[in-house]
This record gives sequence, structure tokens and C-alpha cells, in this order.
Amino acid sequence: MNPLLNDVITLKKVGPKSGAALNALGIYRISDLLHYYPRAYESVGGIKRIDELVENDMAYIKGYIASSVNMLRIGGRTMVQCILQDDSGRIKLIFFNQPYIRKQLHQGDEVIINGKFIIKNNRKMIAGPKVIRQDEFEKLQKIRIKPIYPLSRLLKQKQLTGYVEQSLEIMKYEINDYLNDSVRERLNLASLNFAYEKIHYPMDEKNLQIARKRLVFDEFFLFQIAMKNIKEQVRRSENAFPMVRHSHVKRFVSELPFQLTGAQDRALEDVYADFNSHYTMTRLIQGDVGSGKTIIATIALLNTALNGYQGAFMAPTEVLAKQHHHSLSLQLLPYGVHVELLIGSTTKKNKEDIYRKLDNGEIHIVIGTHALIQEQVSFKNLALVITDEQHRFGVMQRESLVNKGRYPHTLVMSATPIPRTLALIVYGDLDISVVDELPAGRKKIETYLVNSTYHERLYDFVIREVEAGRNVYFVCPMVEEGEEDNGLLSVEGYYDVLRKALPENIIIEKLHGRMKGREKTAVVERFLSFDTQVLVSTTVIEVGVNVPNATLMVIENAERFGLAQLHQLRGRVGRSHHQSYCVLVSDTKNSETKKKLKFLKDHEDGFALAEYDLKMRGPGDAFGIHQHGMPFSDWRTSMMIWNCWNTPENWLGIMYWMKTSRSSLNCSITR
Ligand code: ADP
Ligand code: MG
Repeated sequence: MNPLLNDVITLKKVGPKSGAALNALGIYRISDLLHYYPRAYESVGGIKRIDELVENDMAYIKGYIASSVNMLRIGGRTMVQCILQDDSGRIKLIFFNQPYIRKQLHQGDEVIINGKFIIKNNRKMIAGPKVIRQDEFEKLQKIRIKPIYPLSRLLKQKQLTGYVEQSLEIMKYEINDYLNDSVRERLNLASLNFAYEKIHYPMDEKNLQIARKRLVFDEFFLFQIAMKNIKEQVRRSENAFPMVRHSHVKRFVSELPFQLTGAQDRALEDVYADFNSHYTMTRLIQGDVGSGKTIIATIALLNTALNGYQGAFMAPTEVLAKQHHHSLSLQLLPYGVHVELLIGSTTKKNKEDIYRKLDNGEIHIVIGTHALIQEQVSFKNLALVITDEQHRFGVMQRESLVNKGRYPHTLVMSATPIPRTLALIVYGDLDISVVDELPAGRKKIETYLVNSTYHERLYDFVIREVEAGRNVYFVCPMVEEGEEDNGLLSVEGYYDVLRKALPENIIIEKLHGRMKGREKTAVVERFLSFDTQVLVSTTVIEVGVNVPNATLMVIENAERFGLAQLHQLRGRVGRSHHQSYCVLVSDTKNSETKKKLKFLKDHEDGFALAEYDLKMRGPGDAFGIHQHGMPFSDWRTSMMIWNCWNTPENWLGIMYWMKTSRSSLNCSITR
């Protein structure tokens, strides 16, 4: 096996503690260290010319000894002195109490010295310089620009630097570039070896750019390959589960309490056409928060069950899975469809029961989290797999559920609108239906940006909304007050604050990820039924939770959240015909952050926000390639790869990607 794939624990100076700390940063294998890019670089100063020196500079100077090397004795002390000269000037070197220097240095020698430049009695000199050996200097030259890594509390910069150095050392002998020289030449890309070395230890800014270009290319390219693989696997198989539009579906739609929007209808038409076509469906349904994607999924699943097949619906959180389960089982019950929930917290006994019934076909629709893609699950005739809010899943996870059946139809639902042009490229071969129409009667969510002095007024507003019969969300960045006092509000602490600030007849509850699954559902259900009116939560409610009666979303420490996340959070309100509000509370002084929050305040179109976000941050690791440890050397014939991505569309994508690359690949050197 490639040693780069070994556990980090096999490195020198990694113990159980530091190993766990590395894991917490997402570093499991040695190769992960190569991908752990510096967040910044610090210049440690290179060789200076004598005429550029300013008083008190600590500098490296390269020159030759331009005088004889003399030694003086003053009292019991020795003083060796000589003149160093370079192209720009001359300077005196004085060594104290190092008589042996006289034997080391000779007139005419080329040397590199390091020391502090001082001016004494109008004479320029370096007192107490160090003579640097050539090999030593080469090593120093390498670290002229020091990497600075993002850290956790449990790891020190020096440790991490040491680990990365070890990984680079191993890489030298083990890395296998999947692009051959001629391809790289054509693309003007550096070798992988060079790229990894220089992203950690760039010699200069140009060097860094070259390294970055290659790594950004890889990131994008490997993603493309992964998408291609998924699609091709599916494409190879003909539609194994052809379906007709079942007559009961029409009845179901006519009995809905609302009329489907034109966009919902169009997306459903696409799905029906795929069900009926020669090939297996691989479709992305992209629609902003609140555009009504769930009902599309529900109808597709109903149709699947009515055609005698099974369907799976995968959600990123337990809360969301339970909510889907709750509404789908109610809605589909009259049609004799058996819906079950399978999540991490399902008891062992129930799980086994569900496994059995999935295997023999008693369960028609299963809704769950990633527990669904565990080994034991096998289906009788899984024909449709839907992943909701797919941005929370890595590519590989999606793939593994696909592999459970005989290439079932797949539907991916996303509220993360990457710009259309990029979507076509990034999702390469997924067909796309865009739900670009909000249900009728929706009002714009009024968004406000305030600082914490507004809390009193805010609480009055909360009371008014609750008295009008509406639910209110508060979101905090943390569960409990942290170990470090970082001034962030926590669910636990803020609950106490609200309890004091709001009248007793208003029921407040807490919701966060550390609660048991059962508790969480109960809380959401009480909120839904208005037994609870105010919910203080972490971002567990960010994804998909649907409580149409909620009209006010207060986000505390708004500066702590990403733009996409804030947009998702805001999307929890404005789900009915009632006027809704979102209040962003932040005391941030950072102008970038203020700009970001203001942008959110002024824009409600997810596409505009996504575009802005991409510009600011880059698509990031949302695609989950590096986390899943794509091996480097699996692509034997680079020419084959070259063929499969060398299309104009991909070029466009790569250019876009390079322009908007990840933040970690986007920092520059600070001096
Ligand atoms: P998302 O696209 O964010 O997943 P949901 O599917 O959760 O949105 O839908 C948001 C809300 O809009 C739900 O309460 C849903 O019942 C409602 N809804 C969906 N489609 C329509 C429609 N055509 N008309 C009115 N309300 C709708
Ligand atoms: Mg949804």
C-alpha cells in the first residue's frame, strides 16, 4: 500500500493525543496532511544587500571576506574582525570570544552570515554574526517563507509543521502524478510533487501561484471524474425500473391544500419523463429555500410505491428525516403506502425489523439519514433514491446508496444554488430541473441588521408576534458557554436570558445537536403545534425544517455564520402567507463581515447570494472529495482522463473555479 495512505499515528512524534487532535481537524491519513494547506504565510526574510540594510535589521548577507581576518585581545576577551563585501557595499563583522573564527574564515572566502545590523560611532557593523554553512542555508532558504496552519486548541504550530514536513518527505518518494509530462506541459501545470511542496513551502509569491494553480485544477478535476464515474455507472444500465404515471397520483395532487406552482409541475414532468425513458434517471432538482421541493419528492415516491417498487429518501439530519417521515406517512397512508424511518437513534431491535421488511418488500418508502447507507441495508426492489439538501452529503456517500440497488433512479434536491452556468459544469452530467418560482402569496422576508443594543426592542417584537399566534426562532452559534470566553451566545445561556426577558406565558424550548433524537423530535413537534412558541436553537434547524407558522427568525452572532447558512436559516420563515421577518444581530467590527451581512439583508435571491459567496469564499470542500481521501494513483492512463474532460464546457468551469478557488488556496504572503 502507498505509505501516504497510512494512518497519521504512524508518523514520528504523533501519539494518541496528538493523533486524536489531528483527526479532529479531519486529518486521518498522511496524505491528508499534504492537503492541509496553510492559512497564511510569513516571510522570514531572505538575503539582503548591504546597501538596503536599516539599523537593527536581522538579515542574511552573502558576500566575500574583503580583508584579512584579525584578532584583538582586550583584557581577557577576544575580538575577531574583518570586512564583508557584496555588490552593493562593505560592512564590518565583529565576533566576540570566538577565537576559532580566525581559522574558519579567510580573506576571499564566500560566506553567508546572519546577524543584527548596527551603527556605532558612525560605523556600520554586524556584531556577533553567525556564519551559515551552504547546506544549512539551503535549508533555511526553503523556509524563508514559513507556513502558518489553521490550528485547534490541542495542536501547536510547531507540531503541525513537523508533521507536514514528514508527510512531504514521504511524498517525495511515493507520489505518483496521474498527469504525464506532455499533458502537464500542454496545460501549463506544475507537477504534483512540486505543487504540494510549494503550497507548504513556497519560495516566493510566484511559486505559490504555480502550486495553487495545480492544486485547484486537481480539486476541480477530481470532482469531475467522480461525477463522471457516478453517471457512467448509472448510464451503463438501462432503466431497470420503468414506471408509468399512476392514476392515483392525480387524485393525490388534486387533494393537496394548494395548487402546484408551474415550476413544480415542470420538475414533475421531467421526473415522469425520466421514469419512462430508456435510461436511469440522475436528476438534480434545484430550488431556493421554500420553493416546495418536498412535495415533488413526495409525489415521485408515491408514484414509485404505486408502481410496486421501493423508494428511499435520505435527509442530512435526524430532525429533518423525522419531519419528512411525519408528513409523508400521514399523506401517503390513504394510498396504502408503508413509510418507515431509519436513523442512527432507531433501536437495534427496530432496525433489524426494518432491515427485514426492506429486504422482503413490506416497507415501500424508507426515510432516513446516512444510517441508510450502512452495509446491512438491502432492498427488494429499490427503484428511486432521493437525497434532500445534497450539499450536506459528499459525492461518495451519494454514490454508495446508489450502489445498494440495481441502479435505481436518483433524484438530488438542493437549495444551495450554485450559479446556473457553474451548475451545468460542476454537476456535469446530472440533468437539472430548476424550481424557480415560489408558491403564490409569499411575501418577501423583511431582513434587519442590528447590534446587540437592540435586544430590548427585539423582545417586544417577539412578544407581539407570539400574541398574534406566530412562532419565533432564535439561533445561537453554540450549545453551551465554551471553554474559552469568546463572547458568543449559547443556546443554554441565551435560554436563561430569554426566560427572564419574556413573560411567563410564552413557552420557550431549546434545541441542539447534543440532545437525544427523541427529545429533538418532541421539541420540534411541540413547536409545530404551537404548544411551544419560541425555540432557541443551534443551526440544527438550518436544513429543511418546515414550520409554516413561524414568522420571526432572530440570528444571534450572525457574523459567525456563512452566507449560505444564513440564507438557509432565514428560509425557515416566510413559509406561509404571513409577513415574516429575519433579524441579524451582530456587533462585528470587521468590514468584510459587515458587507456580507448587508448583502444578505439586501438580497433574497439564493442565486445572487451564492454568486457572492463563491466570489468571497470559493466552492470549498462541500463536495467532500478530500475528506473521502481520493487516492492519487488510481488513474493509470492520464490520456484517458485527458480525453474525458477536455471539452469546452469543462474549460469554462476550470477557469471559473480557478478564479474563485478555495479560501485556503487563496491566501498570500504577509511580511
Ligand atoms: P423547500 O423547497 O425549502 O424544501 P418545502 O418543500 O419545505 O420547501 O416547502 C415549504 C412550504 O411551502 C411547505 O409548508 C409546503 O407545504 C409549502 N408549499 C409547497 N408547495 C406549495 C405550493 N405550490 N403552494 C403553496 N404552498 C406550497
Ligand atoms: Mg426542503
